[in-house]
Amino acid sequence: MGEARGRVIQAWSRQGTQPPPRIVGGEGCRFFDAAGRSYLDFSSQLVNANLGHSRTEIQEAVQKQVATMATLGRPWDVEIVDELADRLAEITPGDLNSFFFACSGTEANEAAIRLARAYTGRDKVIARYRSYHGSSAGALTLTGEPRRWVGEPGVPGVVRMLDPYTYRCPAGHPTPCPVCSGAPHLRELLQYEGAENVAAVIVEPITGINGVIVPPDGYLRAIRDVCTEHGIMLICDEVMTGFGRTGSWFACDRWGVVPDIITCAKGLTAGYLPLAAVAVSDRLSGWLQDSVFPYGLTYSAHPVACAAAVAALQVYQKERLVERADRLGAVIEAALRELAERHPSIGDIRGSGCFWGIELVTDRATKQPLVPFNPGSAAAEPMTKLTAAAFQKGLYLLTHWNMIVVSPPLIIDEAEIREGMALLDETLCVADEYVVGSG
Ligand code: PMP
Repeated sequence: MGEARGRVIQAWSRQGTQPPPRIVGGEGCRFFDAAGRSYLDFSSQLVNANLGHSRTEIQEAVQKQVATMATLGRPWDVEIVDELADRLAEITPGDLNSFFFACSGTEANEAAIRLARAYTGRDKVIARYRSYHGSSAGALTLTGEPRRWVGEPGVPGVVRMLDPYTYRCPAGHPTPCPVCSGAPHLRELLQYEGAENVAAVIVEPITGINGVIVPPDGYLRAIRDVCTEHGIMLICDEVMTGFGRTGSWFACDRWGVVPDIITCAKGLTAGYLPLAAVAVSDRLSGWLQDSVFPYGLTYSAHPVACAAAVAALQVYQKERLVERADRLGAVIEAALRELAERHPSIGDIRGSGCFWGIELVTDRATKQPLVPFNPGSAAAEPMTKLTAAAFQKGLYLLTHWNMIVVSPPLIIDEAEIREGMALLDETLCVADEYVVGSG
């Protein structure tokens, strides 16, 4: 190497002066740094590495595809791409049997919106505030959380609705309120926006990084019914929740709701290679038979990424990981409820399968968040300290605003869950110090 030194710019974070620890490997639910320290992965690396680290099945499938046919201008002419579509059609709900492939959740959401607009001939898209849908101009505009501010004014046509966030019910009602039950709030919005102008409603069926918000039963069905009534496409963004994460293949399965479009990524290859899918209904794919939909990326349906996805789906099925995630949900929930009894900083716990959120507060009575819902705020320090303390103890946590997202790989076993919970127990003392009246 020459004299020049490159610098990697970190995403969504201040460019620190401290060099990060050099991560040199991983296996199962753990990864290791150059100093030989081991970390238990309670995050699946952004809710991504569902199958854990260093799976030989995926390594072999990728090697084989690289050696046979790595890239083609018309990738759908490669057999592995068709095989992936067949396997996906087996697990996607209802008649969602046709797929576009992209490289990221962001791009999948862009494609979904473009398709909904083209199909309906309408412009507006309704998205929620407590959402993250990606980082390109369009997907960041769909995003409701404050990270969107850097992209504003963004792309025209996005209208926002409130979230079924029962812990902090936005309407200030006990449930079912007009927002948390879904239909009344959406109907009111449509009255002002004109249902005939709305192409799509996009939701994360269980909100991900913005707090693992599980809506009341009946919410998603109510949204589905309003969309059907008005010819509006319902898009479920399952980028985080897909592939067994919440204890069913897709989170919308939990309520038996079939959207018009599902977007997914992350768990599709379990993070081994970048790949995303847009699953569309037979009605939409029938319409596409006679239409040219201008969509495509050089790396859409990249055969090597598709080979990784096929191998990943085989592992999910062989090891019955969706059922496993569902079963582990009860173990994780019991452990978290036990922690909540002893840590006054825990305001709420919610989730499903291997996907849980801990919401931290300084006061249970007022529900004052431990840190504000605002990027770059200096007041974020308690969460920075907490995340660093966990890392010091060998526990890798995903944190965002005042939330800890507990999302271990679906292959985790009960002993590892107990080990992680014991480290989390010690870590939560950092948050308890900020509780009003403590010390
Ligand atoms: N949608 C959701 C729900 C996500 O959680 C994310 C990423 N965390 C995205 C979309 C964007 O996916 P990507 O980072 O692959 O572009």
